[in-house]
Amino acid sequence: SGAFDPELWRRDFPVLKRQVHGKPLVYFDNANTAQKPQVVIDAVEGYYRDYTANVARAVHSLGEQATAAYEGARDKLARFLNAGSRDQLVFTSGTTQAINLVAYSYALPRLQPGDEILVTQMEHHANIVPWQLVAARTGATVKAAPITPEGELMLDRFEAMLTPAVKLAAVAHVSNVIGTVNPVAQIARLCRSRGVPLLVDGSQACPHQRVDLQAIGCDFYAMTGHKLFGPTGTGALWARREHLQAMPPFFGGGEMIRTVSFDGTVFADPPHKFEAGTPNIAGFIGLGAAVDYIEGIGLERIQAYESELLAYATDALLGVPGLRLFGRAAHKAAVLSFLVEGVHAHDLATLLDHEGVAVRSGHHCAHPLMQFFGVPATARASLAFYNTREEVDAFVRALDKVRKLLA
Ligand code: PMP
Repeated sequence: SGAFDPELWRRDFPVLKRQVHGKPLVYFDNANTAQKPQVVIDAVEGYYRDYTANVARAVHSLGEQATAAYEGARDKLARFLNAGSRDQLVFTSGTTQAINLVAYSYALPRLQPGDEILVTQMEHHANIVPWQLVAARTGATVKAAPITPEGELMLDRFEAMLTPAVKLAAVAHVSNVIGTVNPVAQIARLCRSRGVPLLVDGSQACPHQRVDLQAIGCDFYAMTGHKLFGPTGTGALWARREHLQAMPPFFGGGEMIRTVSFDGTVFADPPHKFEAGTPNIAGFIGLGAAVDYIEGIGLERIQAYESELLAYATDALLGVPGLRLFGRAAHKAAVLSFLVEGVHAHDLATLLDHEGVAVRSGHHCAHPLMQFFGVPATARASLAFYNTREEVDAFVRALDKVRKLLA
């Protein structure tokens, strides 16, 4: 422990040494995808260099080593999330695939005309569109619980909307646009008391706070590895055991069966039942290394540091004339969506890039939330534990320059 020194951790990330347009990179697009520490890069490279082989198929040494590393990553992630059992973690290509798996394997066979799926106004499209697709096939509908102007879920309204017609609820743990941290354990209790299964979209939570699946008490939890400093194309679905057992597989193929004949096929047990074909082996080995790395720092320390940095950045941004900050939830992660009066979000992001500052602009895959705020797009600075106050200062200086140029 001791004081949290981001400079120490920055050394582990090769990309943070680089320049953009002749300026030191200030990477504030972590909610989009996070940078990778050298240990993750080494783990991926090590697999390709030293023991490339398929998993769960070969008894030769390389195959055994690859399988041990791949399944070892599942153990690490299971401990990291307090998953209960490693068998409850299905590897997916990311949150999007995890949510689609629940939509098609769990929701689709159960939905009837008139049924409802309850989401919130702040969801990412990945937690809206899959439900709309299965709703369209079944005659069900998707409805959204409202949020306050500060960007907090109206819990009483959410509770009132949990009618008997609701067959599934799906809520972001942390908003990718405004950083709101939703009280998912409380939401899970509400849902359970009414017999409604709850899916939590944990994409933006896992990199910033301790996620304890036993404590949350939801039915499904989706996460993404590339935002957790791991490789792209990695993620997981956690689900209650009884759901995984009841769900039919979504994809069929090799590695997901026990026996196959033309009279019928017996599927493997979860999680392999849902992992047809050759997976992203190198990616998950890299994700295992990312989990080890994050555990070595400690999520509690990361969360404490990031909340200080958020307070610092919020104060700094509020000092910029004409700046509108979106989302002021009491409990929020270090995500700052903003606009400067008279300046388009894309122009902001483009000119900030010329100053070396990477922010995202656009609708952030959250059209309904943009509609709520009445804007087509925002610029978004999303921070990680390797960001510093000096970077926030550089960002605000760059913003000032851009504002004077354009406003
Ligand atoms: N949900 C949220 C809240 C997200 O932020 C994202 C990624 N921006 C996703 C879902 C989708 O994750 P992925 O693209 O990794 O599947």
